[in-house]
Amino acid sequence: MSVEIEQKKYRNFINGEWVPSNTGEVLESRNPADADEVVGYVQKSSKKDLDDSVKAAKGALRSWKKRSSVERGQYLYKVADILESRLDEVAETMTREMGKTLPEAMGETARGVAILRYYAGEGMHKIGDVIPSTDNRALLYTTRASLGVVGVITPWNFPVAIPIWKMAPALVYGNTVVLKPASETAVTAAKVLQCFQEAGFPSGAVNMVTGPGSVIGQAIIDNKDINGITFTGSNETGKRIGQGALARGAKYQLEMGGKNPVIVLEDADIDLAVEATISGGFRSTGQKCTATSRVIVHRSIYDQFKEKLLYRIDEITIGDGMNEGIWMGPCASESQLNTILSYIQKGKEEGATLIKGGKQLTDGPFEKGYFVEPTVFEHVKPEMTIAQEEIFGPVLALMKVDSIEEALTIANDVEYGLSASIFTTNIQHMLSFVDDMEAGLIRVNAESAGVELQAPFGGMKQSSSHSREQGQAAIEFFTSIKTVFIK
Ligand code: NAD
Repeated sequence: MSVEIEQKKYRNFINGEWVPSNTGEVLESRNPADADEVVGYVQKSSKKDLDDSVKAAKGALRSWKKRSSVERGQYLYKVADILESRLDEVAETMTREMGKTLPEAMGETARGVAILRYYAGEGMHKIGDVIPSTDNRALLYTTRASLGVVGVITPWNFPVAIPIWKMAPALVYGNTVVLKPASETAVTAAKVLQCFQEAGFPSGAVNMVTGPGSVIGQAIIDNKDINGITFTGSNETGKRIGQGALARGAKYQLEMGGKNPVIVLEDADIDLAVEATISGGFRSTGQKCTATSRVIVHRSIYDQFKEKLLYRIDEITIGDGMNEGIWMGPCASESQLNTILSYIQKGKEEGATLIKGGKQLTDGPFEKGYFVEPTVFEHVKPEMTIAQEEIFGPVLALMKVDSIEEALTIANDVEYGLSASIFTTNIQHMLSFVDDMEAGLIRVNAESAGVELQAPFGGMKQSSSHSREQGQAAIEFFTSIKTVFIK
């Protein structure tokens, strides 16, 4: 057994080296499609490991930020090339570690490559403005200063794209980084870090420490040498990070949950809306922050929409995401499966009508994994738990309305505001939706889950700390503006 552990063991990456935690303990990462398979062992680190990595990041800061952003971008181009050359291996690890299908994992890894290249190029963009001064013999302009050491805390659902869309801008804008990935996908994170290592970053510029959120995440919150914390994950954890960062004056950015609606109006292209609902609701087993969760349909087309939706669900192939032809994999972990099943139970108890799925799959090829059927409820009332709380699984709540006004009232009646979509051919309805929908991502005739790396991404209300990631918006978090007056 100990030989097997040694072969599958991943260490922390601190100051340019792979080092074991001083605890001597490891955490197992198991395959959710076959819980008998251990994908790897990662360090169960302590606060001391994290503090060591921060010391390394702080030590590397001065020389890293003295390089030009163009030079820093060159490192990111190298990481992109290395990740691209290892795309199959990284994607397969992701599928085995958290269950999303191999084509989706390959798409996400390719997205990671593209994000790296995008931010490499951002190193050549302007970072300030020249502003007319009231003194005509003075030069007044703005420039940008890096924050310093940035703590990056990430979830398991996009284990390549999210760490990269935080680390790449952090680095190109002159910060050094400590990554704490979700334990469920820490092996995938280690493979991404190997690409950074191979690209030859100066020691300490990029670091990774794995371990429990309550220990390593908390140590990031508490370490006063970390100047900024960027977090993606649940609202509960996000609140804790926000409060801790605020208390010691660190900058923070929180991207959290969603309860994303799709509105289908009487003039919609119904087939298009059905396909988008299937894709938005069930791809990645519904475990996307932008996944479709509520489907609000005009009464006049409700029956037609429902019939087509249920027919398409029957075509979904469920199984191990490594196998060809599988469209929906398992839930990422046993606890995620149990959360989803408890929401399904709650939906039944509160009086919604289960019209599709609702059960765990346990026989034959599903025996050792955490599989659940694609699930649909109807007669869902806006105040029900399954219409209010983030489920993070393949569960749709159907609701019937008589007008766009009623649809918008229901769509906005949640504490989240991440993504929202509408299906309509009426331009007035589109524009009302753009104006009145309380969400950071507005999608018209397109599924709720869809993000372009060159555009700002983030939510409103409880979905975000109101900052934005990705695209050129990233510079706002990872730098501070300096206003310079020279006479
Ligand atoms: P989570 O909050 O449980 O964990 C996220 C990260 O925080 C992990 O690395 C975890 O180890 C760490 N953590 C846990 N406890 C901590 C603590 N006490 N202090 C500091 N760090 C701690 O979230 P998850 O289950 O990994 O991810 C699912 C959630 O992420 C969902 O709510 C989903 O909507 C959200 N999400 C949001 C976005 C977005 O961009 N808005 C994207 C993807 C996922």
